[in-house]
Amino acid sequence: MKIDFANLQLQHQMYKDEIETAVKNVMNKCNFIMGEEIDILERSLEKYTSVKYAITCGSGTDALLLAFMAADIKPGDEIITTPFTFISTSEMIALLGAKPVFVDIDEKTYNIDPAKIEKVITLKTKAILPVCLYGQPADIDEINKIARKYNLKVIIDGAQSFGAEYKGIKDSALGDIAITSFFPAKPLGCYGDGGAVFTNDELLAQKLRSLRIHGQSKRYHHKYIGLGARLDTIQAAVLNVKLSHYQKDLELRREVASRYTKVLSGKDLILPYIANDCNSAWAQYSIRLKNRDEIQTKLKENGIPTAIHYPVPLHLQECMSYLGYKKGDFPISEIISNEIMSIPMNPYVSDKEMKYIANLL
Ligand SMILES: *Cc1c(COP(=O)(O)O)cnc(C)c1O
Repeated sequence: MKIDFANLQLQHQMYKDEIETAVKNVMNKCNFIMGEEIDILERSLEKYTSVKYAITCGSGTDALLLAFMAADIKPGDEIITTPFTFISTSEMIALLGAKPVFVDIDEKTYNIDPAKIEKVITLKTKAILPVCLYGQPADIDEINKIARKYNLKVIIDGAQSFGAEYKGIKDSALGDIAITSFFPAKPLGCYGDGGAVFTNDELLAQKLRSLRIHGQSKRYHHKYIGLGARLDTIQAAVLNVKLSHYQKDLELRREVASRYTKVLSGKDLILPYIANDCNSAWAQYSIRLKNRDEIQTKLKENGIPTAIHYPVPLHLQECMSYLGYKKGDFPISEIISNEIMSIPMNPYVSDKEMKYIANLL
């Protein structure tokens, strides 16, 4: 058997006609930059997430950079975040000359451990940046409590968690600013790069809209130093179709996850843990196992693709070495990065495929 990891092919087949019509429509109109599809998408994102303002942009990475710029993060400022995530999370902090300050993760959820945040707050701390890893929201209430006490901003990296809820509220609607990514393999993916920033604050929303178009206030008048970070109209057209089906896709992902949990329980593995007050967008179904590398090879030989999210925690990445962290600083992140492995996850993993995977595991 040969199994597909994200199965973008099948995801495309499901909505192919609608998507091709939507994209052709943009090509006929030639409204490639900031066409009406962008506005339609932003209003739909606001409706779906119950957040006041959604601002689309070129990628999840752009969304992080825009969020930090809107929050006025300056060189020397510190942002507290997790080392167990994709590089963008702290890369964009560093790009602005600010400093990522890491704290270790919770051993069960793999998200930032709020109990460890207060210890690293300094006079330079400006924001806390939790990541909703694999699709599960971080412990936002605890994080917000600390942020209020020290007057810090909370910026949520929801690149993997679009549609996930914390206490019944979409994670895009929590914190001062939240971001997501529409990278093709994310739960809501477009056909290239894409992202969005969310906020309930009108002034931040205005600033974000301006920053993504070179900081302009009106055409050729520039209030801020900004970016060229717009979403393409063609990507918005794809997303308009996919968002209209998204809740259904998300329910299918949740079903796949619970079927995985059923067939895999009782084996010598640590399965994903979802906190009581959360649900997940299931960007990944990631399991922990002791002899991971050996098993990964064996699965590969049998046609089962897997992925390691992530093999090197950020404090041990070469580009972050200037921060001066060393091995042993964040032991939970280090252990998990040695044991974690994601198995095929998409809305269409069949029972047959799942049994095949479970038998080999
Ligand atoms: C994917 C991802 C990003 C970056 O999103 P892109 O759209 O690929 O730029 C940022 N943070 C996390 C946690 C991600 O998984």
